[in-house]
Amino acid sequence: MLQSMVGFVLMAALTLVSGTSTYAKEIMEDVHAYYQQQQPPLSVMPGNTYPGDVIFVRSNRAMSVTLFAQTYRLQPSRGEYIRMIPIPFNAKPGTYKVMSSDKQFAASLTISPKKFAVDVLNVSNDLNEMRQDTKRINADQKKINAARSRSASVPYFTGAFIQPAAGTLTTPYGYQRVVNGVPANRHAAIDIANKTGTSIYASNNGKVVLADSLYLTGNTIIIDHGMNIFSIYAHLSKLEVVTGQEVAQGQQIGRMGTTGFSTGPHLHYGMLIGNTYVNPQPFFEASPFQWK
Ligand SMILES: [Zn+2]
Repeated sequence: MLQSMVGFVLMAALTLVSGTSTYAKEIMEDVHAYYQQQQPPLSVMPGNTYPGDVIFVRSNRAMSVTLFAQTYRLQPSRGEYIRMIPIPFNAKPGTYKVMSSDKQFAASLTISPKKFAVDVLNVSNDLNEMRQDTKRINADQKKINAARSRSASVPYFTGAFIQPAAGTLTTPYGYQRVVNGVPANRHAAIDIANKTGTSIYASNNGKVVLADSLYLTGNTIIIDHGMNIFSIYAHLSKLEVVTGQEVAQGQQIGRMGTTGFSTGPHLHYGMLIGNTYVNPQPFFEASPFQWK
């Protein structure tokens, strides 16, 4: 708050002295340099996060940062350097430092504990056998990974994301799945159930990078929102967009269905940073630029 007020006063001063004289120019440069110093060189949002969530790292200079022994290069975007970094599900709660590689700058990050429930799912043997066809699953995974290999460096999105369909939230994010008594993948997305044919909307502006019929996820759409943020919509009865198409937030992109590995009509909606699923909830609450 204080910083933004200082910024406001300085911007006002800047406006007053703007002119063509050398003197005015010098003052403007001093004011600009002072203003730059007021900006934290490295910030992490939100400052308090959870396993399976994501953080938004920003800096006013080019740098790499390290977290959990992994190094991430911040990417240039609209005059600053940014990176979305997923927090692993197995991250230990505690306070960490996101540190620049030259150790000049650090930002504090707290990971709070979160419990994920176990979701017991019993399906027919026929359906369960679908999960054994690794050849088809791997072929699909290749298509999915290729679609998510590139992302616009600037955001397509403006503001918070919206719920992609009306319905009942049947499976929240992060549940540990047990299918027919055997521990399966974690459910790193949300399931919204409603009637077949229910409208499905783009959760934010973006570009469709995949609209295809896949084996496990059925009719599937993936949208690039820029900055390596993607949304995925699975098990649709009908695709109403094509790969390469730009979509606006709230635009109808398809219809709810139960295609692929699914026991009833629902939308499987996920959000990813590259190929890593993250909790969609913070995106529904605010744009990453507004995370606190
Ligand atoms: Zn699902």
